[in-house]
Amino acid sequence: MNNSYDVIVVGSGPAGACAAWRLAKAGVAVAVLEKAALPRYKTCGGGVVGRAMRVLPVDVRHVVEQDCHTAQLHISPAGLSFTTHREAPIVSMTMRSRFDFALLSAAQAAGAIVQQKCAVNAIASHADFVTVFTNRGSMRAKFVVAADGALGMVGRTMGMEDGRILIPALEYEVTVPHDRLDAFHDTARFDFGLLPHGYAWAFPKRDHLSIGVLSMTKRGRDFKQSIERYLDMLGCRAATQIERHGFVIPIRPRTGPFVDKRIVLVGDTAGFVDPVTGEGISFAIQSGLVAAQCLIDMQLREESVRGAYRQSLSETILPELRAARVLAHLMYHFPRTRSWAFSHQGQRLCEAVTDVMTGKRRYRDLAFSFQTVFRFLRPRC
Ligand SMILES: Cc1cc2nc3c(=O)[nH]c(=O)nc-3n(C[C@H](O)[C@H](O)[C@H](O)COP(=O)(O)OP(=O)(O)OC[C@H]3O[C@@H](n4cnc5c(N)ncnc54)[C@H](O)[C@@H]3O)c2cc1C
Repeated sequence: MNNSYDVIVVGSGPAGACAAWRLAKAGVAVAVLEKAALPRYKTCGGGVVGRAMRVLPVDVRHVVEQDCHTAQLHISPAGLSFTTHREAPIVSMTMRSRFDFALLSAAQAAGAIVQQKCAVNAIASHADFVTVFTNRGSMRAKFVVAADGALGMVGRTMGMEDGRILIPALEYEVTVPHDRLDAFHDTARFDFGLLPHGYAWAFPKRDHLSIGVLSMTKRGRDFKQSIERYLDMLGCRAATQIERHGFVIPIRPRTGPFVDKRIVLVGDTAGFVDPVTGEGISFAIQSGLVAAQCLIDMQLREESVRGAYRQSLSETILPELRAARVLAHLMYHFPRTRSWAFSHQGQRLCEAVTDVMTGKRRYRDLAFSFQTVFRFLRPRC
């Protein structure tokens, strides 16, 4: 095994795979180290929103199990329901094992070396290079892209500033009889009000449903009861099989810097997740591509890469996440205000968020109207 590369990418999720693809395409010697055996299961709804599909550098249509052109939002106990439709899919449903592997295979075809069952245990940073210690020996590179996910060790052990907020989420893979599955066809369903500070979702896959809950607070109280209630509500008690998984989602980015000690942080490692939806695939892809482009453009010079990545993030992902936090605050921490706002402007808000999910608009473009809603509401609540 060669043990010297220009760039080592730790983690083969969408952030790592897209970074590796871009680097390999540019002729950079890149290796992806993945601790799991591939393809690996990832706890996730597997919903790839239109915004993510738009930035994807490779065609992954073959792993889409079902396109959803309809999104439904239900808010209880207010009894509000809204439906949006689009001609192009709002969300394309995938299983992450296949989706991530398709991206990684594209990176490999472009020239990236992939090492599976290769867990990174430690990293040592030097003036001109980085040593990466794994269960299969040590390697060195001029740069490391840390794409090792929400609980990854790279940022933590290298003492990088954190500040992310990790929230809990449960995902049940639920097999139901086909006539029950058909009721969910073409529709991504979201339910607010089932649990405090969170929401539940039901995503149709080819042969089953991915049903989950998340809570925007650090501790998910009554989580299991909430999802069991949700299964009842959806008429899924007759499930023939249920696989239960839990993980965390970082809904606030690190305080930065996002490049330090020749290490670049991307995806969940950096905390680039939409705080309104908990959707992280879009920004994982985008940050992976942006990080790779900065490494290429700046020819792996540390100071230049640091400046270029900071600049790119401050023009793309970070302002989007900041704008999204305003809406997230309304959605999760003021339930009565939320019900009031949705009872008056619900369809408009849903259409606006659907436009963001499909990549037609950005949260930043909506900020003014959200602020207007807030100003309008404040004296009344
Ligand atoms: C329950 C749940 C539901 C979700 N639903 C959605 C959804 O429907 N749509 C959406 O867009 N987002 C969703 N998300 C968020 C989404 O899963 C993440 O934002 C996304 O996976 C981030 O991608 P990533 O590439 O940064 O990290 P990951 O996909 O987590 O990939 C990290 C990789 O690094 C590997 N790794 C970790 N440590 C090491 C190590 N030491 N050495 C080598 N390899 C290592 C891991 O095995 C893994 O393969 C959900 C999250 C949860 C928890």
